Amino acid sequence: MTTMSHQATSHDWAAHATATLAEAGYRRGGARSAIVELLAKQSCARSALEIEDALRTGSRRVGRATVYRVLEELERLELVSRIEVGQQTARYEPLHPDRTRHHDHLVCDGCGDLIPFRDDDLERALQRVSARLPFMVGEHELVLHGHCAGCRP
Ligand SMILES: [Zn+2]
Ligand SMILES: [Zn+2]
Repeated sequence: MTTMSHQATSHDWAAHATATLAEAGYRRGGARSAIVELLAKQSCARSALEIEDALRTGSRRVGRATVYRVLEELERLELVSRIEVGQQTARYEPLHPDRTRHHDHLVCDGCGDLIPFRDDDLERALQRVSARLPFMVGEHELVLHGHCAGCRP
C-alpha cells in the first residue's frame, strides 16, 4: 500500500470540468468557476465547510448554500466524487476521467483525518470481482476506518 503525497492535481481536471459544465449549459464564471479552480488544486477530498473557508480568503465571497449547490451539480455531472466520512460529513474531490489518478481513503475515527492511499493489488482484486458479477461496475469508493499514528490507543 502506498499513501499518496499531496501534490497538486493540475489544471487538466479544471479544463475537463469547465468543458463538461459548458456542455451541460452552465455559464462560465462566478462561484462555480471559483469552486472548480479551488478543487483543481486539491490532491484529496475537502468538506464543503473547508471549501467555503478557503473561498472566504479569496477575492469573492461565496455563501454556504451556493457551495453546496455547486458541489451537487459537480457530483451529478460526475466531476467530483463524494466521500462519506461519518458524522454526516461528506467530502468532495475531483473525479479524474483518467483512472490512473484513482485512489481510496483511510479515515481516522479519532481526529477525522482523511488519508489517500492506492493499492494496485486491491484494484486488481476489485476488477476480478467486478468481472464475476452480473453487474456493470463503474466507480468505486473505498473508505477504511481506523486510527492514525497520532490517535492509535
Ligand atoms: Zn482523496
Ligand atoms: Zn487521527
